[in-house]
Amino acid sequence: FDIRTGNVPDSEKELEKALRPLSFSDFQGQKKIVDNLEVFVEAAKMRGESLDHVLLHGPPGLGKTTLSAIIANELGVGIKITSGPVLDKPGDLAGLLTNLEPNDVLFIDEIHRLSPIVEEYLYSAMEDFKIDIMIDKGPAARSVQIQLSPFTLIGATTRSGLLTAPLRARFGINSHLEYYDLDVLTGIVERSAAILRTKITSQASKEIASRSRGTPRIANALLRRVRDFAMVKGNGVVDLEITTFALEALNIDKFGLDDMDNKILLTIIDKFKGGPVGLTTIATAVSEDPGTLEEVYEPFLIKEGFLKRTPRGREVTDLAYKHLQKNRRTDDWQ
Ligand code: ADP
Repeated sequence: FDIRTGNVPDSEKELEKALRPLSFSDFQGQKKIVDNLEVFVEAAKMRGESLDHVLLHGPPGLGKTTLSAIIANELGVGIKITSGPVLDKPGDLAGLLTNLEPNDVLFIDEIHRLSPIVEEYLYSAMEDFKIDIMIDKGPAARSVQIQLSPFTLIGATTRSGLLTAPLRARFGINSHLEYYDLDVLTGIVERSAAILRTKITSQASKEIASRSRGTPRIANALLRRVRDFAMVKGNGVVDLEITTFALEALNIDKFGLDDMDNKILLTIIDKFKGGPVGLTTIATAVSEDPGTLEEVYEPFLIKEGFLKRTPRGREVTDLAYKHLQKNRRTDDWQ
């Protein structure tokens, strides 16, 4: 179980499910996005039409899947969930599309990973609610156009930069989810603790929130682990003392940075004298894809003030040196 990425094993899936907000009012943070979505959902309901297609992008664990389920809930329609890599052939997509009820939501996670043929097939479905399917084989093979029920496609992606322009243009609503600030994340930890019937002090929820990389999925995962420590090593109450003890035992960085975050900073410091250094050079040094570095890791490091983007490349800040207990090399001019 990788607590840093928040990947959840099957045994914990049920717990995670229980923590998912089911309505807009239950969903904390991302206020602007949620306020707008509420209006669009309400308007679609008033007109009795399907909601416009929605693209949600942003780093993992910030609530894209959760929001999609809430949208379907609030619209009072069904939701079918799939993902880019799973949709191998146009036929897979056709099967899903023809089974949707009017105004249903089709959620496609990792939509940047759709194969080009499936993606192209999606265009007419999104635009005119029509698809062409091939019937018969050999000389009798012909394509027939099928009318679909109106539906809402919700696409989620961590890598919006990889979306093709024609696909992106077909989404009427386009929202970028941001990392959560400390107050909101603290509120999420408190809400989750209440659902898990766990007593938690406000200092403890704040401490967990501050080490969660701005990410609700990580906050919930940390809370579940700290709760285990509180039950076994303490009196069941999650207070600051047991929280600090547990987070220490779990090797969770004071700022919630994960291994990759620290590796990126250390690499820039050790191999490139703190920068400036180009994105692709860093990516090669840490064996990560440059796009993932840019869209998944960097935003948090920049937001927290560990890294700067300059015209000449990436540079680490004094805070990063301090955090990693490194000294800036001053011997360059000698
Ligand atoms: P993503 O699809 O962006 O990777 P998810 O929607 O799967 O993220 O969210 C991960 C977990 O974090 C969910 O189980 C949910 O319980 C929790 N979560 C996400 N956003 C919020 C929020 N705004 N308020 C409360 N819990 C949230």
